[in-house]
Amino acid sequence: MALARGRQFLAIPGPTNVPLRVLQAMDRPPIDFTSPEFAALAEEVQHGLRKVFKTEHDIFIWASTGHGAWEAALANFFSAGEEVLICETGSFSEWWFEMAGLLGLKPEYLPGDWKQGIDPAKVEERLRADTEHKIKGVGVVPNETSTGLTNDLAAIRKAIDAAGHPALLLCDTISSLGSMDFQMDGWGVDVVVGGSQKGLMLHTGLGLLGVSAKALARADEADVPRRYWDIRRSLQMPYHMRNPGTAPAHFFYGLKESITFIEEETLDGVFARHARLAEAVRRAIAEWAKGGALNFFVENEARRSNSVTAVEFADGYNADEFRFAVRDDFNVMLGGGLMKLGGKVFRIGHLGDLNEPMVWGTLAAIEATLKRKGIPHGSGGVDAAITHLAEA
Ligand SMILES: *Cc1c(COP(=O)(O)O)cnc(C)c1O
Repeated sequence: MALARGRQFLAIPGPTNVPLRVLQAMDRPPIDFTSPEFAALAEEVQHGLRKVFKTEHDIFIWASTGHGAWEAALANFFSAGEEVLICETGSFSEWWFEMAGLLGLKPEYLPGDWKQGIDPAKVEERLRADTEHKIKGVGVVPNETSTGLTNDLAAIRKAIDAAGHPALLLCDTISSLGSMDFQMDGWGVDVVVGGSQKGLMLHTGLGLLGVSAKALARADEADVPRRYWDIRRSLQMPYHMRNPGTAPAHFFYGLKESITFIEEETLDGVFARHARLAEAVRRAIAEWAKGGALNFFVENEARRSNSVTAVEFADGYNADEFRFAVRDDFNVMLGGGLMKLGGKVFRIGHLGDLNEPMVWGTLAAIEATLKRKGIPHGSGGVDAAITHLAEA
């Protein structure tokens, strides 16, 4: 590998860049997690997180990856053999579906097109057919990180209501929370899975779960064995004692700082910045695509994500070879294709603590690699991104 000079550009869709002020907030010795100091911090973080989730309900926090929060979402509200409908969007929906089966639920996969997104009418149709209301939950990944595909959660909520179906709406917002609008209460989402290392601009290590009153009411009957993830146990504790075992206090210092950072920019400001930067990325790709060797993975233009974009190569090209060249030659890290998309796509993460020059730099490294490798491409990609972001 070439000698890496200068700053590495982390352009993967998570973990994302952690701002210096967040790193500094975490750089401190351990404290007593039963102390009044930590109790006050945990309370502050709880209320800050609710604003980010746009909810009035409790957010549960674990020392875990996002997978932990997935498990918490499936273990707390359902019983063995109960049916959950997971909407197919890409690799993440697939893994969530798989986990539901492993936990003893009866998951059904609602087929979906990875390039087009979930059709709310199909969700409605399936739920209408479930006249006995055997389906207890509908799982959606509103921002499918493996492909950069977004789904319209509010429309899916409407579809569930139109079918008159009582299933809980579960959603995995790990790669959209704090980057794209999300309204837990406004959109009627019952169970919300989040993680620390994407839009929240922290290291990996916190799993988050938003729980509506309707979901909470199911927790008592749910019989999936659980201890670490049991929110009934957590609810008996004050906020600072809810993580089973020793609280990861340094993460709370970091989370408090990142929430403050988000509040300073305002949530709307954060979403607008992500939308602008994402549009610059899309303009570049649209130019490059004119060469015929690569294109957007997501065909449905209205469903392209503001936090991650997957670029698909035509047959005969190897996306991994390409992104390793970008890494080795320019010290820019791009995301790879997951599962069946391995070697076919690379992914640009454009979320979190990111500004214009970082986007330009990443795009320029990609364009330079296209040139070096002689891959046919429209030549004005970076120019188009500059032009877009030059407009105030
Ligand atoms: C990153 C991600 C996950 C997994 O999070 P981990 O912390 O790696 O377990 C799950 N779902 C989505 C949509 C993600 O983007």
